[in-house]
Amino acid sequence: SANTPVTVIGLGPMGQAMVGAYLDRGHPVTVWNRTASRADELVARGATRAETPTEAVRASELVILSLTHYGAMYDILDTVGDALAGRVVVNLSSDTPEATREASGWLADRGADLLVGGVMVPAPMVGGEGAYVFYSGSAATMDAHRQTLAAIGRPDYRGEDPALAQLWYQAQLEVFLTALSSFAHAAALVGSAGVCAAELAPYSAETFALAAGMLQESSNRFDVGDHRDDGANVIMMGATADHIVGASRAAGIDLALPLAVKDHYDRAIAAGHGRDSWTSLFEVIRKPGE
Ligand code: NDP
Repeated sequence: SANTPVTVIGLGPMGQAMVGAYLDRGHPVTVWNRTASRADELVARGATRAETPTEAVRASELVILSLTHYGAMYDILDTVGDALAGRVVVNLSSDTPEATREASGWLADRGADLLVGGVMVPAPMVGGEGAYVFYSGSAATMDAHRQTLAAIGRPDYRGEDPALAQLWYQAQLEVFLTALSSFAHAAALVGSAGVCAAELAPYSAETFALAAGMLQESSNRFDVGDHRDDGANVIMMGATADHIVGASRAAGIDLALPLAVKDHYDRAIAAGHGRDSWTSLFEVIRKPGE
């Protein structure tokens, strides 16, 4: 309910947006940040400033962390001693799956339960309509706090292994970042002939939509290992990948991305997948040694 107190530690753009979402919904919010001045505006809006991390952790059962990485969590929580016992730490910081698993053990040793979260929208969208957050950790803890956490975004619980939310977060950002880099690269490619990026944009949008339409069918093939030729085989697609490298080289632009793509095709051909569907790339990507 709106009476549930929450503590937010870490007041970068994301933490500030989370505090804002809780204040808007009437929750008592305690905040702490290494650089104290970043709390000023939130305190003026009704948040309570904790003078120390210990005070912040004591203020609420639910302790939300929004930090640059998991290393910052240790810097801050190492100083709070017994205060962690019985707390639920919701860490919404990005890091590797392994760092996430370690943190779960470190907190369990101190009597605290870790819920791992990955927020899937930028700060201005936190608490809004399209916001969602991947979570992993104890299902019972998730259930107990689901409603309170929904203020940040729709909770999307992925399972008990603490690393899962981190994996899902990074899978989503991988697709996002690679797609954006590919567009920047394509813009540089046509740009080498004097074409402006704005002219390319609607065409690339169409290609993104075409690729999006292929995901479900492709994932079914990944899942069962069915790579029979479906009209887009590795030799044909690989030749195109090679032409993109050649075109990029001639244009004098960066080669890293097209070379990485071409490498997938080369290795699929070397593994005997030349006449299979491009979906066989999945095999050389997931087991590069074979
Ligand atoms: P910032 O990196 O701007 O802020 C992070 C916070 O971490 C600051 O409050 C900073 O304190 C604190 N911090 C960093 N290192 C330490 C340390 N060693 N000891 C104590 N405090 C420390 O992050 P954002 O708010 O942008 O993001 C937070 C997390 O959310 C990140 O993991 C990010 O990947 C993720 N995220 C960000 C999105 C975005 O659009 N920004 C979108 C989705 C997720 P101080 O103020 O003192 O420097």
